Amino acid sequence: QLAYVAGRLVPLRDAHVHVEDRGLQFADALYEVAAVMNGRMLDWDGHLTRLRRGCAALFIEFSMSDAALLAQAQRLVAVNGHRDALLYMQLSRGTARRDHGFPLHARPTLVMTVRRFDFAQRIGQQARGVGVITVNDMRWQRVDLKTTGLLANVLAKQDARAAGAFEGWLVSADGDVREGGSTNAYIVRDGTIITHPLSAHILPGIARATLLRLARDAQITVVERPFTLDEALAADEALLTSTTAPLLPVVTIDGRPVGDGAPGPVAARLAALVWDEIARQTGW
Ligand code: PLP
Repeated sequence: QLAYVAGRLVPLRDAHVHVEDRGLQFADALYEVAAVMNGRMLDWDGHLTRLRRGCAALFIEFSMSDAALLAQAQRLVAVNGHRDALLYMQLSRGTARRDHGFPLHARPTLVMTVRRFDFAQRIGQQARGVGVITVNDMRWQRVDLKTTGLLANVLAKQDARAAGAFEGWLVSADGDVREGGSTNAYIVRDGTIITHPLSAHILPGIARATLLRLARDAQITVVERPFTLDEALAADEALLTSTTAPLLPVVTIDGRPVGDGAPGPVAARLAALVWDEIARQTGW
């Protein structure tokens, strides 16, 4: 098992960043999680674009070219020899004496790991559907930036785990369901997919973009608007997406059934579209 740390491949167990790395001290860092399926990268361009957008928004001067980053990522995937894995990339502002303002001379620190991942487990979960619980969204106001400051997401996820649920849905003070702790959220009403619009309050998920594109191509109506918890409970179906869970039907919310409490036809149709797209890109 090798990891990439600031330009070098090192054994994962010895892969460290400096104690004064700003990612560690301030969560002054961006990250991406990309799926490697059948040895190939899924939606690489989407991840790269989101990372670059984050760098621009946070003034992180990351000078590595697109080609070099892809080459380093592919080399790490290849040396680890996994066919199905998650590639984790983290880019911090760099290492410097602790001071909130930007350091003058630090260079960004890039680290990457690749861990085996069993995507096939999602097929069974897709057939059964998953449960979510709801929690207050107590994150900061720029969660469209994929920073490592994830404590609110961690707590949401842990609450979900403790309740035996797959995900915690983050609900605003106004009662809008924004997204999950690490997934985007959708409901289906009369055949229409409804999902929170892109804004500073949700992460622009790569799987979300794929799902909406595939749905529209298949003449399924998509409406991007906030929806409330009450609407979700009254919906015909609900679902979630992410890189690690390409499409899962949500069959309970806080223990109450959505629709008839079983995966519905729209979720099944969307799942077929999503897995077809994955097969097209990766041969998985
Ligand atoms: N929303 C949040 C808060 C996330 O952390 C993630 C992924 O980790 C997602 C949504 C899904 O994003 P993607 O489809 O890019 O994996």
